[in-house]
Amino acid sequence: MNPQVSSDSQMNAENALKREMRSGRFSHALLLSGQRGIGKRTLARFLAKGLLCQSEDEALRPCGICRSCKRYENNTHSNLLKPNLKPSDKSIGIDPIRSIVEELSRHGLETGARVILIENADKMTPQAQNCLLKTLEEASNNTHFILTADSERSILPTILSRCRIERMQPWDDERMTNELRKVGMDRNRIDELLKLSDGSIGRALSIHEDASFWTARENVIKAFFTISKPSDIPQRISLLKDKKEDSSLYLDILEQTVTGYLHEKATQNTMHLSPSPLWDKAPVSGLRKISEAIQQARRLRAANVGWQSVAEQLMQIISEEIVKWQQ
Ligand SMILES: [Zn+2]
Repeated sequence: MNPQVSSDSQMNAENALKREMRSGRFSHALLLSGQRGIGKRTLARFLAKGLLCQSEDEALRPCGICRSCKRYENNTHSNLLKPNLKPSDKSIGIDPIRSIVEELSRHGLETGARVILIENADKMTPQAQNCLLKTLEEASNNTHFILTADSERSILPTILSRCRIERMQPWDDERMTNELRKVGMDRNRIDELLKLSDGSIGRALSIHEDASFWTARENVIKAFFTISKPSDIPQRISLLKDKKEDSSLYLDILEQTVTGYLHEKATQNTMHLSPSPLWDKAPVSGLRKISEAIQQARRLRAANVGWQSVAEQLMQIISEEIVKWQQ
């Protein structure tokens, strides 16, 4: 489902960073970029902790037991500088960055590595980025900037040009599967999550833990994928009563499932987890028609047409198509 860079080359890039961190030849400024949920923050924190670690055995860094690792874990490490943000902050303004710059100049003579960790660096305002720029240029050898960003677009070229940029890729199915197995998931759940998460391990894990999502998914299957004829509609509609608030999620799940069938048709596989045997015979033309009907349903919802009536129109189209498939 994610024909991106193979696990191997992605893992190689990550392992190279870890080796450099342990060897003492780590970049002065590193930017980890790539879509949300692919492990940028986890890697950035691992590298930051490892750079500060004082274990004699470099191969063990971060060791998790030295004084420095403990201080890192307790968030009390004075050589780890992060912007001080409030949960409500939508951007990283100049003040928290200025504090870091001042802190760096105050502790200029302190020994040991210092790490400036700026997660979501693409949220920095241009003023904040300009404030950071000078420090980025002049910082000493033992100072490391680690930045993460979902997108490089909001980062000034002057910052980008001073960073080593590591573009992290969405995870491929094999790596996702291995990681999700570690959490103890069964094959069916893993297959579901691969379809839903676009190579984002973070998204896969958060969907997995979201009970309301699975309830909604079950309802969508019952309501839309068990219709075999138009006269089924009134009973199916009754399942969607009081679900107005979730209508957008319901349409998302419906669309993802239809797209899953289309994908399987295109690759000539049978759907590993077909929610309904009725749909296994669906021709591409019928699936496309239903996809278009889902887009139309979104437009109607955006125009405040009632959810029940939008869902009913959708079911009408689905039932007409299903009758054709069964002939
Ligand atoms: Zn340590």
